Amino acid sequence: MHNGFIKTLPLLTMALTVLLVGAGIFVYKNSSGIKGVGEGEFQNVILLGWDGVQRKHLHELLDAGKLPNLEKFIAAGTMNDISITSGATDTKAGWTEILTGYSPDVTGVYSNFDYKPIAEGYTVFERLEEHFGKDDIATLFVSGKGNNVSARGPHKSCTNCLTRYRGSREKVDYWHENTSAPTSIPGEERVFEPMEGEPYYHTKNALDVYETDLGSAENVGAKVLEYIEEYKQERFFAFFHFEEPDEPGHIYGENSREYSEGIITDDYWLGQIVEKLKKTGIYDKTLIYLVSDHGFDEGKKWHLNAPEVFLATNDIAGPKRDGDREDITPTILHRYGVDINSLTPPLYGISLAQEELPDVTLVIREFLSDGPAMVADELSYYAQEGLGVRTVIVEKGEYASPFFLSGRAQFAILGNKWSLLSQLTDTEGKAEIIADLGGGGKRWRVMAGASSGISALEDLEGKRVASWHDSYGFAKFRSYLKEKHISIIPVPLPGMSPDAAVATLVSGNADALLVWEPIPSLIEESSIGYEVFRMEEIGDEMSVYLHAQADFTKEHPAETQAILRALARAGRFIRDNPLEAAHIIHSKRETLRASSSAIASALTNMDFAVRFDEEERKEIDYTVDIFRQMDLHDLPDEAFIELNGEYIGQYEYAQSL
Ligand SMILES: [Zn+2]
Repeated sequence: MHNGFIKTLPLLTMALTVLLVGAGIFVYKNSSGIKGVGEGEFQNVILLGWDGVQRKHLHELLDAGKLPNLEKFIAAGTMNDISITSGATDTKAGWTEILTGYSPDVTGVYSNFDYKPIAEGYTVFERLEEHFGKDDIATLFVSGKGNNVSARGPHKSCTNCLTRYRGSREKVDYWHENTSAPTSIPGEERVFEPMEGEPYYHTKNALDVYETDLGSAENVGAKVLEYIEEYKQERFFAFFHFEEPDEPGHIYGENSREYSEGIITDDYWLGQIVEKLKKTGIYDKTLIYLVSDHGFDEGKKWHLNAPEVFLATNDIAGPKRDGDREDITPTILHRYGVDINSLTPPLYGISLAQEELPDVTLVIREFLSDGPAMVADELSYYAQEGLGVRTVIVEKGEYASPFFLSGRAQFAILGNKWSLLSQLTDTEGKAEIIADLGGGGKRWRVMAGASSGISALEDLEGKRVASWHDSYGFAKFRSYLKEKHISIIPVPLPGMSPDAAVATLVSGNADALLVWEPIPSLIEESSIGYEVFRMEEIGDEMSVYLHAQADFTKEHPAETQAILRALARAGRFIRDNPLEAAHIIHSKRETLRASSSAIASALTNMDFAVRFDEEERKEIDYTVDIFRQMDLHDLPDEAFIELNGEYIGQYEYAQSL
């Protein structure tokens, strides 16, 4: 029976070089009027949105001297090009990317018509509330548009309605469930599709002010000035959205006088806002980031392919390079001092304010098995190799894998399950596993409660055993018990936190736990349980794997080798200095905040290495091949694997119980 769940890796090819992305600071330096802000402390950020500004059109107006306020503004700060590389060039996708730092594959907001609510906690508003505390920052969302920046809950959406009347090009109310909108084929029955909700359905709950559908600039502008007055004493982050020039663009076209007028109106209000900030005495502590959600198709009344926009700011310590629509939120969070490399899911954008771009991004999980990557980062091992490495730490493989596969990271550390899934998902072979980083079967242990009376594996019969139900370890353990004819009552562990695991045992909700380090060591240290079994007895090394973008390793072998050397060195450091290593790892994440002494003792149960095991690679390739032949694109709960008519074995995976 081929019980091998996985293992393998394509051959190492290695290499890399510094990928320096060109930086372009500057533009329109002169000396007049408005001052730059942000050299020292600042308090507020205003994210000013001008809807649908084509970059080229903006520059034409600037060059013609038609935008005096913007001209003064960027003379004191910077203006950079922003490109759109994911999501539709439209309003819903645009503001969602700008306000989250994520592509649609994370938010589910692909376009004005393909959307769902942004997950709770993912927006810049919520990140800042989290960072400062709810009472220490006010968050404001004030918008000219209603639809497309809406917080509506579950609803139905017409899929064959026109969005604008033919001829007049005025908006129809296609987004209402009882719309009177004409259908695209006249006389046709309207077709509705159920939607989970609009993008800001969850976000709204976190906001101090959420006001939309204000219409044209004069309404928005007046409100904005009122809100600045109201919040001038507090720290605030505000998104102020003007619907111009998008609306006139749709009616009169991009090359129209009306479209230009829309931008000129926005410019007037920029001047008013700066004036108001000065009058209230908070200009010097308020950064303004001015952006657009999408451009406009040249000479057209739409913006189907309009990826060229801009970012202008008075923040003199801010953007240092051109960027992407998804870089706005990371830049603002970075400027506020948020550790943007420790957010889950990892931000897809980068901070444009960082001095130097990293050569390489490595995404890891907040697990002890990924400790060497934390240590290598902390002890500057990469820097000593001459490499700038950005280490992004996420909760688990579920977040690390898509971030890596999207190309945002050159390297990723993944466990068994996500290694297999990543290989399975990556049908073009862009991602390869280049090393086994160890981990070790000793780190997964079955811990019985102090008064459970369990002393051997057989005693688990009929007992409640808690673990992470979607983990490879638990699946593996359960199939092992099945072979031994031992049946347990599986109990799901909530989340990855050591506290939750310990509580499950202490409360008696489970008689035993199957968990990985540092939880077993934590349980031993506090004498609430003891070990009855180690996964190494099953004969599985429970390794974690280093994945790399194949193109990258091919083009940059020296840099790839440097990463491997740094990780190997960090593994040796941990072995030789467990206490010091424990201290470093302990400081990294919530889930690793077991005591330093528990972590130190846990580290002695880890086996860190950098191995290139041909056998393992073959096994993973083999498993992936079988799954592909079975046309599986996800891990099955249970499957009898038959290949070319020959029975190979039973593959079991406890996806849900
Ligand atoms: Zn539009």
